[in-house]
Amino acid sequence: MSETRDLTLLTAHEMADLLRAGETTSRELAAAHLERARRTDHGLNAWLTIDDERAFAEADAADARLAAARAAGPAAVERLHPLAGIPVALKDLVSVKGGQCTAGSRILEGYRAPYDAHITERLHDVGAVILGKTNMDEFAMGSSTEHSAFGPTSNPWDLDRVPGGSSGGSAASVAAYQAPMSIGTDTGGSIRQPASLCGIVGIKPTYGRVSRYGIVAFASSLDQIGPFARDTRDAAALLHAVSGRDERDSTSAPVEVPDALIQLAKSDDEAASHLRGKRLGLPREYFVSGMEPGVERAIREAVVALEHAGAIVEEVSLPHTDYGLATYYIVAPAEASANLARYDGVRFGHSVRGGDDYLADYLATRGGGFGPEVKRRIMLGTYALSAGYYDAFYLKAQKVRTLIKRDFDLLWERGFDALVAPTSPDVAFRFGSKLADPVKMYLSDACTLPVNMAGLPGMSVPCGLSEDLPVGLQLIGAPWSEGELFRLARGYEGATAGETWRNVRPHHLAALEDPTTPTPAERIARAGAH
Ligand code: GLN
Repeated sequence: MSETRDLTLLTAHEMADLLRAGETTSRELAAAHLERARRTDHGLNAWLTIDDERAFAEADAADARLAAARAAGPAAVERLHPLAGIPVALKDLVSVKGGQCTAGSRILEGYRAPYDAHITERLHDVGAVILGKTNMDEFAMGSSTEHSAFGPTSNPWDLDRVPGGSSGGSAASVAAYQAPMSIGTDTGGSIRQPASLCGIVGIKPTYGRVSRYGIVAFASSLDQIGPFARDTRDAAALLHAVSGRDERDSTSAPVEVPDALIQLAKSDDEAASHLRGKRLGLPREYFVSGMEPGVERAIREAVVALEHAGAIVEEVSLPHTDYGLATYYIVAPAEASANLARYDGVRFGHSVRGGDDYLADYLATRGGGFGPEVKRRIMLGTYALSAGYYDAFYLKAQKVRTLIKRDFDLLWERGFDALVAPTSPDVAFRFGSKLADPVKMYLSDACTLPVNMAGLPGMSVPCGLSEDLPVGLQLIGAPWSEGELFRLARGYEGATAGETWRNVRPHHLAALEDPTTPTPAERIARAGAH
């Protein structure tokens, strides 16, 4: 084993190979990532907590399992999950028993999760190692991580820019090699858009694929949990680990988890050959007005690469796409206003107690505990649900939601294997550039929201650079088609393996090594002072 080998630069499947061969240990992997996360997070602010003690305990347990499997022989080693001994970061809305779970909000400061989320149990079962919890927009509301109550996160490609949101910390930590993979949630784009802006892979699975038990709820009919990783094989393995029916979430479906997720082709050529004869739709409505020309160029080039590999790409129409944004911003805030009613200062975290006036305490707790974006959503949602407006807004939005879903269904009926589209209309934007205008921020998700409204799986894979910043290609599939979606994405990855942009690392990794690099909040304050 070489002294200078940097374990943090490997993919998780490369780490897994070393673990199985006895050439590294889970403890070494945990130590390397914990050290890098601590050393480089000052200028990034991707983490809200790093838990060495827990990570090392889990790593030692994984090492014991790995050693036992090696002693038992090749069949036992083969039976280990690809994630055994691999470090993972969790968005800070996933419950880990005894740990903090802020959801990026002051109102949950001091709260300790009394139990593990379903996915925490799953990760434990396969032997993954949880390093800590990552930064996010408050209650997952946002597209830039600027709405975190604990300061914004930077993008490792350019520290003056956002990593996307709301799972910005999870995406930035993986792009900056602080963790090989992480968990995010996607209600309207919060996995795909930050994956796109940080140049990594992210997938929002079919609604019901992953149990939401133990996850802080935003909009229950839209929220899904999913993985981030630096390649498709790693993302698929993490999705495999957390998927499946759980009695405690009635919306988690009793659908088999495809083995394809842990059997993706290792060879790039074999992977690319899967694209031959595949029928892909290119929805014209996703080339929204205001889209950056460089993003459109990268997407068109990706389409050419897919065609070169033998896929048949046809332009298609999803006529109700335009209504995605309007209906999402009725349904999501409506559900959020109901879900957030529980933060009353009695049951969770932050609590202001004056005297006997409980109403005053309640108003002070919520008034001080929630940030401005969360308050905006609660007001929007309460309005949409109020008597007299319910039919006009909420019910109407749910009906339009059916039409959005039908647009997609018609394409599956016509035999399309998947759709390809941009993930985000722009590359990583500068801090502050959309903060003053909520609608501008909401438009970041114009290409991702319809997929949540229809409950479909959608993923983002890197497809090149525009202005030297990453662009994401979105692949959208029929319900429960994650196995095929990953084979297609892996095919695209294989077909473009030789592209020079694949070897470009985030530009500001070196700056993160410098302890004098300002924090994202200091950066914004300085820019404002000029
Ligand atoms: N940006 C969207 C919003 O603010 C989606 C967020 C998400 O997917 N959690 O609601």
